[in-house]
Amino acid sequence: MNMQIQPFKYFVIHCTATREGQKVTPEQIIQWHTSPPPNGRGWTKVGYSDMILLDGIRHRFVEHNGDLWIDSKEITNGVKGINSISRHVVYVGGLDHDGTPKNTMTVSQIKTLTEIIKMVLDYAPDVLIGGHNQFGNKACPSFWVPDFLKSIGIKDRNIYKNDPFGYGDKLF
Ligand SMILES: [Zn+2]
Repeated sequence: MNMQIQPFKYFVIHCTATREGQKVTPEQIIQWHTSPPPNGRGWTKVGYSDMILLDGIRHRFVEHNGDLWIDSKEITNGVKGINSISRHVVYVGGLDHDGTPKNTMTVSQIKTLTEIIKMVLDYAPDVLIGGHNQFGNKACPSFWVPDFLKSIGIKDRNIYKNDPFGYGDKLF
């Protein structure tokens, strides 16, 4: 394992891919990610730094010391290939009642996500913020992050715009 400290480059937004209104606890996320298969993915680390519960409460899985680097103990497993230079936040939800991708963020979740993003930019003003679907071919987080960031007043230079899988036209 590469123990070298890497610069913090991407802040990536995820959803739990659970149905609208369905509760998910931090303990469930830990189990899904770290239990051995078939019950979990068998990862050594949980996939996200932070989790936003349905009521907007923020749960921190992995503390970050607020500098511009991702120490090895701060790494989380959100997106294969970029985890050593990324932090990941997940909101509970992302599917409608039929299991189709849908932006299910509650007003409280939007408020908390906005606060977290602004906190991150306070200590890492050059970080690029994007959605999982800009790094991998999946709908997660079920909305188009660049438009969301614009709507909450994030500066253009912090908005990651790559769209290799075309989700910008599919999600709102
Ligand atoms: Zn994701």
